[in-house]
Amino acid sequence: MKKLFFTLFVATTCITYAQNKLQSPEEFLGYKIGDQFTRHSDVIQYFKHVANNSKMVSYKTYGKTNERRPLTYAIVSSEENINTIENIRLEHLKNAGIVEGTATSKKAIVWLSYNVHGNEASSTEAAMKTIHELITKKESWLENTVVIIDPCINPDGRDRYVNWYNQVKATPYNTDQNATEHNEPWPGGRPNHYLFDLNRDWAWATQIESQQRLKIYNQWMPHIHVDFHEQGINEPYYFAPAAEPFHEIITPWQRDFQTQIGKNHAKYFDKEGWLFFTRERFDLLYPSYGDTYPTFMGAIGMTYEQAGHGRAGLGIQTDEGYVLTLKDRALHHTATGLSTVEMSSKNALKLNEEFKKFFINTDLKYKSYVLNGPKDKIKALTTLLDKQEIKYGFTKTPKVTGYNFRENKQGSINANGALVVSTNQPKGKMVKVLFEPDAKLSNPLTYDITAWSIPHAYGLEAIASTSLVATNQSKQQEPIANIANASGAGYITKWNSINDAAFMADLVQNSIRVRFSEKNFSNNGDDFKKGSLIITKSDNISTKDYDKIVIKIANKHHRKLFTATSSFASKGVDFGSPEVKLINKQRIAILKGDYVSSLSYGELWHFFEQQLNYPITSIDSQYFNKVNLNSYDVLILPNGSYRGEISASTLNKLKKWVQQGGKLIAMAGAVGTFAGKEGFDLIKNKPKPKKKDSIGNLTPYDQRERENVKDLITGSIFKTKVDPSHPMAFGYDDTYFSLKLNNNSYKLLKKGYNIAYMQSPENVSGFSGKTALKNLNNSLVFGEARIGKGSVIYMVDNPMFRSFWENGKLFLVNAIFFTNNNKFRL
Ligand SMILES: [Zn+2]
Repeated sequence: MKKLFFTLFVATTCITYAQNKLQSPEEFLGYKIGDQFTRHSDVIQYFKHVANNSKMVSYKTYGKTNERRPLTYAIVSSEENINTIENIRLEHLKNAGIVEGTATSKKAIVWLSYNVHGNEASSTEAAMKTIHELITKKESWLENTVVIIDPCINPDGRDRYVNWYNQVKATPYNTDQNATEHNEPWPGGRPNHYLFDLNRDWAWATQIESQQRLKIYNQWMPHIHVDFHEQGINEPYYFAPAAEPFHEIITPWQRDFQTQIGKNHAKYFDKEGWLFFTRERFDLLYPSYGDTYPTFMGAIGMTYEQAGHGRAGLGIQTDEGYVLTLKDRALHHTATGLSTVEMSSKNALKLNEEFKKFFINTDLKYKSYVLNGPKDKIKALTTLLDKQEIKYGFTKTPKVTGYNFRENKQGSINANGALVVSTNQPKGKMVKVLFEPDAKLSNPLTYDITAWSIPHAYGLEAIASTSLVATNQSKQQEPIANIANASGAGYITKWNSINDAAFMADLVQNSIRVRFSEKNFSNNGDDFKKGSLIITKSDNISTKDYDKIVIKIANKHHRKLFTATSSFASKGVDFGSPEVKLINKQRIAILKGDYVSSLSYGELWHFFEQQLNYPITSIDSQYFNKVNLNSYDVLILPNGSYRGEISASTLNKLKKWVQQGGKLIAMAGAVGTFAGKEGFDLIKNKPKPKKKDSIGNLTPYDQRERENVKDLITGSIFKTKVDPSHPMAFGYDDTYFSLKLNNNSYKLLKKGYNIAYMQSPENVSGFSGKTALKNLNNSLVFGEARIGKGSVIYMVDNPMFRSFWENGKLFLVNAIFFTNNNKFRL
């Protein structure tokens, strides 16, 4: 009896002990995975719990989101591996050549990223199930495999979705597609705080989530990276192998292993009777995705897509008549996650061997990219290279020959002091992908843009050289320390970059009056181009210590101030000239909400808050009609689907406001709102109607899609002409490389100013279809139409796109502060 009691006691204690130790997600959360959407903070608590109760897990925080939610990752492996994890990491990096020495690594490194799109919310649920299964049922795989789990890449987006869903859902949940819980309001949970798509941001790292994640990614450089997603409710499940086009840099091994992994998943899916598809829709070209970016960094990068996303909720009736549940969605993502780890563990040696080969970059055509231009633009690029941990240097070579990006043919540039980025480094393949003049396309039907070449995005002169260019300097340094000169007439600075713009924005917000010159001039032996800023003593006579304030702000922004002892110009205009105009402290409103592209609005929001540091007023489309526009100097209409959304009376209101001096800036899709409308000087270029066969269209069914390709422009770079005398083009010369995102085309303005335009289009990189290209003859890129005292500015191409086209952003600043600047509001 005693003995039995003792046994019972031990057994009970063991269970309690076990429960107090590691719990399953269900035990910890109080509901089964799939019964509820878990708040981000609870997900974090569960991972903490797992780490506290398992020697196979190390859990860390790598940063914070804009809304102050933690970004975290768990390292999961055998206890022995966890104890020597730093050694495993360094051995692994030796394979990539990032750490010196001969590698002995035999471990596979797998990285699983969940919930990059916030409303594709089943994957974070799966992350909790996956970590628990790995350490309780799949320990043997972890003996030679390290699994890094980021349970949620985009916590702000996830909570935006989950909080909304929890607020509106019916109890029990309603499976009717019309129910409110299946129809997310604008902007939805997909993007991050600034409404950026984090699955387009890996290469540019404009967002803090990406910036902080890349630091950890670079520390690990995994063999395998999986990005978990969700697609439409009627499409069952997608996993690797991916669809064409594949970027040519992808190795046969990378392709092959995707297929092997896909077949392993298929085994589990077939067993359960779950449908899936492979090799369709999701291609591997644009480098900024969670599958391509890791692929170009040597990994097998893959996207897994479960049916669901923001529509599905806890359960929804699909068009095919069955109920898709969160429970099943999480189960499928758990299955593919585990199957990925299994395959990695089984092939650990091969993964190490092939990974090492990937980093041999001797057969790349271009050995060095040599870039020259204003220091700020070079600095913007080296900042990006630093984020990517790509090495670079500077050369003293006077002349470098090769493919000249600006001329789009062989040529040479003066390279003394130029930036050199070479492909003979571990990340050489990524250098090729980001810098090459034109990415080779096996198929133009891609999911995304087909051109992104960095020299054009950053507005730099560049040569792609087939021979290695030696570097002899690691940094370009020129510390700026300005000194006040109280007896002078004022200060002058040049106008070339967004850094100059941020300086100006800071000055006007500090109530320093600033002028800009519409003419070139010389002062005290220095030459200044149009757009140069002039801060005069006379304008700021009533501001105490104006000198000190200006110097302090200039030093903060690393701007070089030229001191003018007199306002008398040695050449050109004096400070008091009517051509030297005061800059107004513009009051800027931006439209957001339904029919405005949340991405485009987000790009602007982010730009003004994080780059220019200038206040804006965001106005929602729901009450836009009631707003008195006289409180604003500038109204920006971001890209969007405006068709029919701006009523005749609103259009009239806008026109009157412009007539009285307002400045309306229409971007991309918003431009079409004004096409063909009286007084707006804007007409669409329409392609000539196709000659139809008199009997009918005889293009076969399976060739129609290919036929439509002729009408497409899928994110391509065009060389455009610029009128550098127009204030919107100050800081630019007569050429601008524009990223064209679609086939929209408008005629050159009849009365207004054509600031950037194409006569016969020159497509320097990326795909454009024959018909679409023809339709770009004599078309507008940026233009200004005057109406009464005000202006409407058309930005047909959107330079703010994903915030990576650095060289286009100054056009927007110029449009706001310089263009049609004939009035000054006191
Ligand atoms: Zn997604």
